[in-house]
Amino acid sequence: MHVGHFAVSLIAKRIEPRLSLGTVTFASMFPDVLWCILMLAHIEHVRFKPGITVQAGMRAIDVLEAPDIIYSHSLVMGMVWAALLAAAYFSRRRYAPGAVVICAAVLSHWVLDFTSHPPDMPLAPGIDTRLGLGLWNSIPGTVVAEGALWLASILLYLGATRAEGRAGIFVFWITILVLTLAWLNNISAPPPPDLSIIGISSLIYFSLMIASMYWINRLRSIVPEYHALKPGESHAD
Ligand SMILES: [Zn+2]
Repeated sequence: MHVGHFAVSLIAKRIEPRLSLGTVTFASMFPDVLWCILMLAHIEHVRFKPGITVQAGMRAIDVLEAPDIIYSHSLVMGMVWAALLAAAYFSRRRYAPGAVVICAAVLSHWVLDFTSHPPDMPLAPGIDTRLGLGLWNSIPGTVVAEGALWLASILLYLGATRAEGRAGIFVFWITILVLTLAWLNNISAPPPPDLSIIGISSLIYFSLMIASMYWINRLRSIVPEYHALKPGESHAD
């Protein structure tokens, strides 16, 4: 999935307002960020499916496969990363509910990718079983299902926050627009002819989007009914 992972972070911020939107986005996107780094290190790869060419008019989601994503995207490694990120958060903030949401955000990545991917999601390193419900096989299905999740998360987040100034409106909506356009482009446009740039271009894109979420977190505050801050507490952690 694509915007679905960002939807998780918007919803998580409403569930646990003391979490930074940036931190929980990093958690929900962690397997993809790791995948980019491991691709740059030539440990994980993406390739064209044998026998299918972009020139045949196939869509991006149909022509790529990820044969070896066991470290970034297997279920067991997802549990490991979830535990490590939650532990890192807890050791820094000493806030157990936030650590639980961080853990859930990382685990949600596998569940959402399992829903959208064709059966290429691994269970664990060393186990050949691959799973996936293949929502991506249907472009209308992807737009409707992931789009509905995305829209719902935006409405939930908007209902729980308010902009501190104009920047809180502009930065939020520009980020939402960039994510939505990138998502639609990913679904409908062919992948770049040179797949070696996917690692670095995706890493830059994900990093910018996570940084935007940290920025949005500073520019928008939680409305009081969702979280009564004690004196001296900050939302920006
Ligand atoms: Zn992923």
